[in-house]
Amino acid sequence: MRSASSEPPFLRVGVTGGIGSGKSTVCKLFADLGRVVIAADEIARRLSNENPTVKDAIIREFGSDVYLPDGTLDRPKIASVVFHNEKKRRTLDSIIHPHVFEAIDRQLQILPSTRSHPYTLIEAALIYETGMDETLDHVIVVSADEDTCIQRVMARDQISREDVLLRIAAQMPLDKKVKKGDFVIQNNGTVADVRSTVLFLDRILSQLTASTNP
Ligand code: ADP
Repeated sequence: MRSASSEPPFLRVGVTGGIGSGKSTVCKLFADLGRVVIAADEIARRLSNENPTVKDAIIREFGSDVYLPDGTLDRPKIASVVFHNEKKRRTLDSIIHPHVFEAIDRQLQILPSTRSHPYTLIEAALIYETGMDETLDHVIVVSADEDTCIQRVMARDQISREDVLLRIAAQMPLDKKVKKGDFVIQNNGTVADVRSTVLFLDRILSQLTASTNP
């Protein structure tokens, strides 16, 4: 539900893409411009480490040894299970996603609706896979050539090419997301290149009138 302010509601703009296509990089550039970014993957990480309901459900499904002695989720361990077993991956998603949606909604509710804050970005890898796009005014898809994405993720996460390919296979193909997107940012060049695209898109999004979702 939108806030009952006399000012227009802010736009809700999703940012998605493939693994390593540059979602976080793009969102950081928007944040540098002072835009609000809600990161679904960060929320999911926090919930799986801290929320007792989520943790209990994960332990019931996957056993207590997917948690480290410090109580945080052993990400490489659970990744090695879910990226080799689609049913288990769906089970894990079904445990975490409803809580992530709730948390995003709570954050959106407390943001002021104001002309100086024309839009909020919601960064999530699985916007189309989860149907979250239905709740958003626009979706930006960050795209890059597959081999570029693979190289970037191998370097960022220190994982093998095979493991990156398994993660890619678990998501909707990037070209399908590109077809669905309202805006597409091509991120094959330098960070400076993508920064100028972000500046351009920021001007467009700031001008758009919010749609009147209930
Ligand atoms: P995603 O959030 O889509 O998984 P990231 O934004 O984390 O992707 O980018 C993946 C990796 O590639 C990160 O280490 C990031 O710093 C790097 N990266 C992203 N865009 C570029 C770029 N245009 N040039 C060089 N490195 C980039």
